[in-house]
Amino acid sequence: MLLTISTSSTSCHSARDLSFLLHKHPDKFQSFRLSFGQAHVFYPVLSDHEASVALALEIDPVGTVRGKSRDQAFLLDHYVNDRPYVASSFLSVAIAQVFGSALAGRCLDRPELVNLPIPLEARLEVLPVRGGGELVERLFAPLGYAVATIGYPLDDRFPEWGRSSYYSVALAGTSTLSRLLSHLYVLIPVFDNDKHYYVGPDELEKLLAKGAGWLATHPEKDLITRRYLGNRVELFRTAWARLIDEEAGGDADESATEAATEAETAPEKTPEKAANGQLALHRLRHEAVLAALRASGARSVLDLGCGDGKLLPSLLADRQFNRIVGLDVSLRSLQFARRRLKLDDRSAHQADRLTLWHGSLMYRDSRLAGFDAAVLVEVIEHLDPPRLVALERVVFGYARPATVVVTTPNREYNVKWEALSAGEFRHGDHRFEWTRSEFAAWAAAIGGAYGYTIDIAPVGPIDEAVGAPTQMCVFRRPVGEVFQP
Ligand code: SAH
Repeated sequence: MLLTISTSSTSCHSARDLSFLLHKHPDKFQSFRLSFGQAHVFYPVLSDHEASVALALEIDPVGTVRGKSRDQAFLLDHYVNDRPYVASSFLSVAIAQVFGSALAGRCLDRPELVNLPIPLEARLEVLPVRGGGELVERLFAPLGYAVATIGYPLDDRFPEWGRSSYYSVALAGTSTLSRLLSHLYVLIPVFDNDKHYYVGPDELEKLLAKGAGWLATHPEKDLITRRYLGNRVELFRTAWARLIDEEAGGDADESATEAATEAETAPEKTPEKAANGQLALHRLRHEAVLAALRASGARSVLDLGCGDGKLLPSLLADRQFNRIVGLDVSLRSLQFARRRLKLDDRSAHQADRLTLWHGSLMYRDSRLAGFDAAVLVEVIEHLDPPRLVALERVVFGYARPATVVVTTPNREYNVKWEALSAGEFRHGDHRFEWTRSEFAAWAAAIGGAYGYTIDIAPVGPIDEAVGAPTQMCVFRRPVGEVFQP
């Protein structure tokens, strides 16, 4: 297994600086013992113009299974496999151990070199790629590299057997050495989607540390994160939530949601009371939410994604609720809410009971802790699925009120609205609308992940075939629970 990294001199640096950056003496052939074999470092090319360093790995296929239980050792697979010959998670471990300082961006002798982008080329002689050779381009090109790959037939004597999954890869670009090494460290094991060790929570920390500054904005961060974490769903969800925090920064989502509130009820729009005396859907929704809150015994309530504050007057009207907060990411909506509630001319006591906060449900916010209940009325469908993961963590993981009430459209009911063509959502800003079974599956997953019981109810007129227009779930946290999300 061979990785080579080359550079050429520029007006700002000499090719020979590579040895300083790597903390590896240019005139020595050095070997390092690793748990699975040996790593050798040497410089095949070193001149005033060009320098190349080689990291050669000798993996001991027997050593990697020695000491393992008999159950594992019986696998002949351990002896007859491609690991000694290909770039895999073993190479990432070797990069971290042998080039650790360079990877971390430390250079005591020449610190000024660390942040200097230099022309670099990395060559991986044999990279196993699950999912086709184009994946190499898809993962490296967005990071600014010119990518060249050479594919190989499975056996050149039998072309009819087709192509193998092995590629020689060359990446060229201008980058700091530390950045290049962090790309290789994270992405090499992603290509063959296999790791030689158990993937636990510390791998998540490593991924986020090594991916800092580039993974959050990578167009393939979904695939990279999923594969890197060995397809472990719970780690993947946490990683996504944290990457989104990193990517969003500030109120990135405000403009996208500005228009959300006003047109929220577009196709649902009906007068307060329909001709048959039925309350309009948004009133029915509020009644259902209020009933759930009253039944919960909650005194303090968060209206998360309160929009222009339609629910807040009903909360204020009920003396059971002595602390009410409306929170939204959109300042404009909050201004509407302020006017609707005539907050500016309310008595001091009323003002004490109700506050409006500007904030985003993408971020952990210490103000949200300590409330008895939170409601999310027609909010979740405004978030892309990965952002929804961040919201779940904030609401159910950090704020953790005893009761959470969530309402969302039932997509099946859309056929009942003539204004909607097939497949269309009720609102242009909706990222999804769920069927009853999709909502039930989500609620069950959240309940399971965060330790809440769930109770789903239809809201609005019930149609035998497609159900009610709105679906609601009341999540309850068992009293006295000790739960570590
Ligand atoms: N609950 C209100 C408004 C629903 S519209 C009602 O029933 O009338 C959805 C609201 O969610 C919008 O006001 C939008 O600004 C808000 N929202 C969307 N993403 C948000 C986020 N990340 N943090 C806080 N609020 C958000």
